[in-house]
Amino acid sequence: MRTQIVIVGSGPSGLLLGQLLAGIGVETVILERSSREHVLGRVRAGVLEQGTVELLEEAGAAARLHAEGLPHSGISLAFDERLHRIDLAALTGGKHVTVYGQTEVTHDLMDKREAAGLVTVYEAADVALHDFDGAPFVTYAKDGVSHRIDCDFIAGCDGYHGVSRKSAPERALKTFERQYPFGWLGVLAEVPPADRELVYANHERGFALCSMRSTHRSRYYVQCPQDDRVEAWSDDRFWDELRRRLPEQTAASVTTGPSFEKSIAPLRSFVAEPMHFGRLFLVGDAAHIVPPTGAKGLNLAASDVRYLFAGLRDFYTDKSQSGIEAYSQKALARVWKAVRFSWWMTTMLHRFPDTGDFGQRIQEAELDYLVHSQAASTALAENYVGLPW
Ligand SMILES: Cc1cc2nc3c(=O)[nH]c(=O)nc-3n(C[C@H](O)[C@H](O)[C@H](O)COP(=O)(O)OP(=O)(O)OC[C@H]3O[C@@H](n4cnc5c(N)ncnc54)[C@H](O)[C@@H]3O)c2cc1C
Repeated sequence: MRTQIVIVGSGPSGLLLGQLLAGIGVETVILERSSREHVLGRVRAGVLEQGTVELLEEAGAAARLHAEGLPHSGISLAFDERLHRIDLAALTGGKHVTVYGQTEVTHDLMDKREAAGLVTVYEAADVALHDFDGAPFVTYAKDGVSHRIDCDFIAGCDGYHGVSRKSAPERALKTFERQYPFGWLGVLAEVPPADRELVYANHERGFALCSMRSTHRSRYYVQCPQDDRVEAWSDDRFWDELRRRLPEQTAASVTTGPSFEKSIAPLRSFVAEPMHFGRLFLVGDAAHIVPPTGAKGLNLAASDVRYLFAGLRDFYTDKSQSGIEAYSQKALARVWKAVRFSWWMTTMLHRFPDTGDFGQRIQEAELDYLVHSQAASTALAENYVGLPW
C-alpha cells in the first residue's frame, strides 16, 4: 500500500494534522495502537487557546466546540484566603481561552475523519518506522497479519511513550528533562463548578485547581505525593482536602458528588531536539511534555501541527522544501516559551519539599506582586491565552 503521509497516533495532534492535510487533498493513513474507545476514554486537557480554536475551525471541526465550549476571559489566583482575578481579555486586547475537553476535540476530529472516509487503522500493533532518510515506509501488524505502507513522510504524533522518538538516531537526539517531586490527583464529577472561571490555588498544604468541562461537569485537582495511590483517596477525603486549600468563600461554593474518574498524573517537563529527522517529524507529546499548570500540552501539540502543516502545504503545492526544513526550529522556539511558562506557573504555585516557611512567603510575595502589577499580570495573561505563532 502507498499513501503520501503516514501519521502514527490518533491523539489530537495526529487527527488535526490529518484533517488539515485532507483539506488540501493530501492523503494520509493514521496508525493507532489502541482502540477508538480507549483513545476517547482518556481524560486530559480542557483549556484551548484561541489559536487552537482557529486551527480546529480551519479543519472544519469546530461546530460543536462553538456550541458547547465555554469562553473564559479570566482566571483567578487564590492565595492569602482571597481570590485575585486576572482579566485575560482586558490585558491582551480581547483574547480569551475556551474550555472544551480534549476528549470532545478528539471525538469531533474522529467524526470528521470518518465522515470523509479517511483511513485510520486502530489496534495497529508493532508499528515500526523505516528508511526515513531515504524512501520511508512503515510496517505494522493488524489481527496477526503484517502490513507495509510506503509514503513520502512520516508524522510521529504518538505521544511521549510512542515509537517515533525512539526511532530517531540516538546520537542525533538531545533531550532535556525536569521531574517535579509531586503529582496531581484529578477528579471528574457531574457537579456544577465552584467558580465561573478556573481557580489556581497556592496553599501551604499544596496546590489545588478548580477547573471544569462544562457548566455541569467539574474537574478538580490537588497536588499529591508522587508515589500516592488513587485507592488511598476516597471521594470524601478528596473533597475535604480540596476545600481546605481554597479560600473560605470558594470552598463553600464547591458542590460535591460522586467522582466518575480519579487518577494521578506525574508532573514533568521534557523536550527532545530536533523535531525533524530526514522524512520523519515529531509532533506534540512525542517531542515534548509540560506540566499541566499552564494548560499548554494540547495547545503546543496544535501549534506543532500548524507549523508542520504549513511546511507540508508548501511542499505539495509549490514544491518548496523551506517550510519543512524550518519546522523543527520554528516549533521549538514556541515550545521552549511554553515550557518556561509551565515551569514558572508550577514553581510559583506548588509546595516543593524544600519550600518551607521562607519559600511559602516568597511565593506569596511573587503572587502579590503579580496581581498588583499590570506588567506582571500582562505577562501571565499573554502566555496563558497563547503567544503569537
Ligand atoms: C494524564 C494526563 C493529563 C493531562 N492533562 C492536561 C491538562 O490538564 N492540560 C493540558 O494542556 N494538557 C494535559 N495533558 C497533556 C495533553 O493531553 C497532551 O499534550 C496531548 O494529548 C498531546 O496530544 P498528542 O496527540 O501529541 O499525543 P497523545 O494524546 O498522547 O496521542 C498519542 C497517540 O498515539 C498513540 N500511540 C502511542 N504509541 C503508539 C504506537 N507505537 N503506535 C501507534 N500509536 C501509538 C496513543 O495511543 C495515542 O492515541 C495531559 C496529559 C496526560 C497524560
